[in-house]
Amino acid sequence: MSVVIPVYNEQESLPTLLKRTTAACKHLTQPYEIILVDDGSSDSSAEILTAAAQQTERQVIAVLLNRNYGQHSAIMAGFNEVTGDLIITLDADLQNPPEEIPRLVSVAEEGYDLVGTVRANRQDSWFRKSGSRIINMMIQRATGKSMGDYGCMLRAYRRHIIDAMLNCHERSTFIPILANTFARRTTEIDVRHAEREFGDSKYSLMKLINLMYDLVTCLTTTPLRLLSVVGSIVALSGFVLALVLIALRLLLGPEWAAGGVFTLFAVLFTFIGAQFVGMGLLGEYIGRIYTDVRARPRYFVQKVVGEKQIHKIQEEE
Ligand code: UDP
Ligand code: MG
Repeated sequence: MSVVIPVYNEQESLPTLLKRTTAACKHLTQPYEIILVDDGSSDSSAEILTAAAQQTERQVIAVLLNRNYGQHSAIMAGFNEVTGDLIITLDADLQNPPEEIPRLVSVAEEGYDLVGTVRANRQDSWFRKSGSRIINMMIQRATGKSMGDYGCMLRAYRRHIIDAMLNCHERSTFIPILANTFARRTTEIDVRHAEREFGDSKYSLMKLINLMYDLVTCLTTTPLRLLSVVGSIVALSGFVLALVLIALRLLLGPEWAAGGVFTLFAVLFTFIGAQFVGMGLLGEYIGRIYTDVRARPRYFVQKVVGEKQIHKIQEEE
């Protein structure tokens, strides 16, 4: 079992985090390792991690990145080092209680590829909560996979999911979604969520927006297609307006039309709509370029069952 924790300027939380995580892992029957990835912290997090890794009785491994790359890149760096069969990620700020690890492990042992979690009593601002709710709803629409909470990083993954993710060489990743695209059997459990005790959230508004775009582009190229849809609707309504205007002009006479203002609108709508359709067309190409450039492996074979007969026959001959 491997635990992967990204750390960015969390020096106050680290001692407690290490203590509680180790304590939780000691309850397990499996051997374990705790991999902490320092995401280019500017405080003394890196030193604390190095010191912890050098104490031999603790199964702690510190991975130090040379600068700040963001939470998901840091977790990927941690995935590169894992040796366990079951991998658990969690946040360093103690908002995800490490005490939930044994429960996650026991649920994963029931044969799930991926165990997600739902923050039962989420302790974040109203702004963040409602944002997440809208995004979760969109993801469910797009993927058909119903998971209640993509923002909670306390999750368990089987080894083959991690291997698949490491084979995706795109630069902007949103791990829970990427993992979902490779998982067959998934489940979710409720976990507690604590308020942040030390420091502030490491996500500024700009970083959140960036994260949201990572999430959307990781998931789908549908927004590009939406351009054509919107364009078609606008162009069509412009066209219908034009027809209505012609009809009104014939029925009510020229005095009615307010000097052609409405006609101008009809023409404008039609052209704007056509422009959008054109952009959507470009978008379709860009979307395809994007999927090709991203070059995710086409599929992953989980297992091949049965012997290959041809070699055997050749050997016998
Ligand atoms: N984090 C990181 N790099 C970053 C930002 C955050 O490694 O650039 C880590 C951070 O140390 C924490 C986790 O990602 O362990 C989640 O960050 P935070 O608690 O600030 O996010 P929030 O809970 O507000 O979503
Ligand atoms: Mg947090």
